[in-house]
Formats: sequence, C-alpha cells, structure tokens
Amino acid sequence: MVYLRRLSVEQRLRHGLASDTLYMMYQPQVDETQKTVGLEALVRWQDEELGIVSPAEFVEVAEKSGLMVPLGRFVVETSMHEYSILREAAGRSLDLAINISVIQFRQPKFVESVLEALKVHNISPRELVLEITESLFMDDFEPVLTTIERLRGHGVRISMDDFGTGYSSLSLLRKLPLDELKIDKSFVDNILEDERAANMIRSIVAIAKSYNMELVAEGVEEEAQAQALTRMGCRRFQGYYFSRPKRLDKLKADLALEIGV
Ligand code: C2E
Ligand code: MG
Ligand code: MG
Repeated sequence: MVYLRRLSVEQRLRHGLASDTLYMMYQPQVDETQKTVGLEALVRWQDEELGIVSPAEFVEVAEKSGLMVPLGRFVVETSMHEYSILREAAGRSLDLAINISVIQFRQPKFVESVLEALKVHNISPRELVLEITESLFMDDFEPVLTTIERLRGHGVRISMDDFGTGYSSLSLLRKLPLDELKIDKSFVDNILEDERAANMIRSIVAIAKSYNMELVAEGVEEEAQAQALTRMGCRRFQGYYFSRPKRLDKLKADLALEIGV
C-alpha cells in the first residue's frame, strides 16, 4: 500500500512538473514589532487525482526518484521571480528563504545555478537565505562545506532548518560557517509546559548569540509562545500566530498595506 502510494505520487509528480499544478506559497517572518522582514518559500502541489499532497511527502518522493532536480529548479525559479514582484509591491527588500534539498545541494553546478538565477531576477545574493538540514551532512562533509563557503563568499546566507532535532547539531556548529538557526517547531510547541523544551530553546539562543548567528523561531501558534520566546531573547518569528503561508497575490496586497507601518 505504502509502495503503491509512492509509485502514484511519483508518477503524478512527473506529470505535475510538466503541467502547472505546482505553485509556491510564502510565509512571513516577522521581527519583534511584527513587521515582515522575511519570507519562507514553501512549495505546494494540488494534483487532479491525488488532491493536495503535502510537501513533506512529495519532496521525499522526489528525492528518491530523480525528480528533485527539476522540482528544485521550479522552486528556485518561481520563488525568485515572485519575490521580485513582492519586493516591488512592498517597496523594500526582504529576506527570501528557500528550502534546499540535499540532492540539489550536491549538484555539481548548484552554486552557479543559484548565482545565475539571482542575476536573471535582479536579486542581490544578500537577499537570499538558503535553508538546509542536517541530513546534508550524513555522508561526505567536505564537498558540502566547500559549497557553503562558496555561496557565503558571494553573500548568500545559510540557515540551519529544524535546528536541534538532528543527532549532530552541536558538533556541526563547530565546523560549519552558518548565518542562521531555525528553532524547530517541536521545541516551540512545548515551550510553555515542558521545562526541558524551554531549556533547549534557551541554549539555542545562547549558541546563536555566541556564534553571532540570526535566530528564527518557527511554528509559533500562540501569543504566549511568542512572549516566552521574546523573554528568552528571540527576535524573529514565523508561525500561524503571525501569518499562515500565503499565495503571491494575497501577500502582495498585504505587504503593500504594511508600508509605512
Ligand atoms: P520546513 O522547511 O521546516 O517548513 C516549515 C513548515 O511548518 C511548513 O510546512 C509550514 O507551513 C509549517 N508551519 C509554519 N508555521 C506553522 C505553525 O504555526 N503551525 C504549524 N502546524 N505548521 C507551521 P509545509 O509547507 O507543509 O512544509 C513541510 C516541509 O516540507 C518543510 O519544512 C520542508 O522541509 C519541506 N518543503 C516545503 N517546501 C519545500 C521546498 O520548496 N523545497 C524543499 N526542498 N523542501 C520543501
Ligand atoms: Mg524551512
Ligand atoms: Mg523547519
């Protein structure tokens, strides 16, 4: 059953990449005054037969079936194109955060393709944040490090997504030049009731400070969580409490309204 589902997701996704059933949504990241300072691009897929499939499911299928490269290309292209439209509507630059799969990251010409896309869309490398996960470091560390150094050399920032959930988080930090940590939703979920989760967040805040990294708390759903995070020293938030991911048109209108706020 699981196998059959995988097969049909793969087959439909192959079809989806050639049609226009994939699209992007953007979730605002806000500062302590609730001003939008960044956007995370999140891919969406509504298939005629399967309905809405979650990216957690189809990204994994894409990674295992050779479809991640074309899917990743779609994500980078569409996000940059739409970001340039949003920037115009907002009248200011924001951080554009794009999730990058390990498969994309290990492509020989990955750095060149990112730089080329930035140029085509007239986006500065300093506006771009690439979100990676610890799965990137499962095998070979050196080539990944080289890629990160090259991207950072051009001004692109690297963010570690789902921070704290991997088994090697701390040892990675020692070896890796990173610009940002994203506190995983699982810690934020339990921040109010579980002292261990709260302590974990305090530690991550301290780590980010001492390594001079940005910090984003993700999956903030309640005001009380945002307040607790603020007390712990977090200044940047993402989550349903502030905003759900939005389509281009809605975000464009909302950002235009935010001007001058
Ligand atoms: P992620 O990168 O950690 O993205 C954050 C996920 O948390 C998103 O789910 C977002 O919609 C969700 N989220 C944000 N705030 C809240 C909240 O307050 N409550 C709850 N319950 N959820 C919240 P989404 O879009 O379903 O994506 C799931 C995962 O799929 C992502 O986790 C990422 O690993 C992957 N993904 C999504 N889009 C892309 C993409 O364009 N490329 C790649 N390579 N992976 C992607
Ligand atoms: Mg992410
Ligand atoms: Mg995450």
